[in-house]
Amino acid sequence: MPVQNNLIGGTWLGSSDTLLSINPSDTNDVVGEFAVASATQVRDAIAAARAALPTWAATTTQMRSDLLHNIGSELLARKEELGDLLAREEGKTRAEAMGEVTRAAQIFRFFAGETVRYGGEKLPSVRPGIEVQNTRHPVGVVGIITPWNFPIAIPAWKIAPALAFGNTVVFKPSERTPALGWALADIIARTAAPKGVFNLVMGAGPVGDAILDGVDAVSFTGSVATGRHVARRAVERMIPVQAEMGGKNPLVVLDDADLTTAVNCAVDGAFFQTGQRCTASSRLIVCEGIHDRFVDAVSERIRALVIDHALKAGTQCGPVVDQRQLDQDLRYIDIGKREGATPKVLGELLTRDTPGFYLSPTLFVDTTNDMRINREEIFGPVASVIRVKDYDEALSVANDTEFGLSAGICTTSMKHARHFQTNVQSGLAMINLPTAGLDYHVPFGGTKASSYGPREQGRYAVEFYTISKTSYIEI
Ligand code: ADP
Repeated sequence: MPVQNNLIGGTWLGSSDTLLSINPSDTNDVVGEFAVASATQVRDAIAAARAALPTWAATTTQMRSDLLHNIGSELLARKEELGDLLAREEGKTRAEAMGEVTRAAQIFRFFAGETVRYGGEKLPSVRPGIEVQNTRHPVGVVGIITPWNFPIAIPAWKIAPALAFGNTVVFKPSERTPALGWALADIIARTAAPKGVFNLVMGAGPVGDAILDGVDAVSFTGSVATGRHVARRAVERMIPVQAEMGGKNPLVVLDDADLTTAVNCAVDGAFFQTGQRCTASSRLIVCEGIHDRFVDAVSERIRALVIDHALKAGTQCGPVVDQRQLDQDLRYIDIGKREGATPKVLGELLTRDTPGFYLSPTLFVDTTNDMRINREEIFGPVASVIRVKDYDEALSVANDTEFGLSAGICTTSMKHARHFQTNVQSGLAMINLPTAGLDYHVPFGGTKASSYGPREQGRYAVEFYTISKTSYIEI
């Protein structure tokens, strides 16, 4: 199997160091071997992006729009093949993986449109004989650092707007899912992006750190600890930064909720995609009148979930992404037990036809919001139920967290739904819907420790990927 290289200034370059990507559904299956960019190669990538910037920023919006449209078309045309690769590398099911590739294509198509749509404004001056113009300009060389759990959709929602608005890019995918990052880079390189406009550097934290040294802006998604580090480094250099980090997302279930809706929201939000979504519902805050019925129904549903090889027909949840994440999930299950939570359904390591990181769901009950399992992000198929008296207590528990990404409520009361929508401290509010599951044309992001910097996605992306200039012109 040939080593897949980094893309630097339009040339695919190898290095002395490589990393392996392993299929979490079958650890005997090596997905690929990838070159780890050296510090010099990262510097070269940034220099190439800088050299390409003036020409790229001056291209017509039609040219950039066509390029993004073509990237979207190739992603759509290859969604089955790339979906299989994604499921094989990351472990989400084939259906989830194909959905993600389709989403990446839709994002490129959306920004193909935005490229010709965005603009500035002309304003009257408060003084006579003067015209004021506000125009938008590329921010420059953008560093893009992404995680493993959406290995093509998250890169897409950062790379597409970066290129749309005339920036050049140095992109580092997660070292845990380089195959999808590489596949996307290959498509962009072949879609006639001029040399240096888009660069790929693969590897772990040190490669990300090297990116922070030279770029003009950085967009990051990943853990809180790394996000804080990235934001600190960016502020030191006084460059714009956008960091999307974790969540400890509440799903509130009131006594008047439709039980089927509430159970569907909890099972989907907490356990689909193996719980490995930053918008996953990890705290199920349930009023006492519906508590027992809800817990019984959720337990029954999750005991029946089919957990198996991501590419096997009928699989509903794939494996955990790797040994490190599995260890973390098991550690938190143990912490929950030691903290006094009752495992109503206890996750177990499962044996399947192929060796993989198979873990069944865990549902803790009798938990309190101060337990570590309710304060720290686990990022696996583990959720806790917190029993509350009424809506007021539910809202107060929902907001008692360091995070604020997504929050949901299941209720048939318009009054409580509207109050929750306004008063829950999160960037996303879901009414009778799972906390995960988003559109691509509207802003995405959270409050508190979940997000830092301007919102991503949709028309709002222009705020981060451009700089506004105000001109005064004598007329
Ligand atoms: P996760 O645990 O989900 O992998 P991380 O925050 O560790 O989350 O990783 C998210 C992304 O940040 C990955 O691409 C990773 O390689 C990168 N990264 C890790 N450490 C650093 C660092 N010190 N500087 C920049 N990027 C980093």
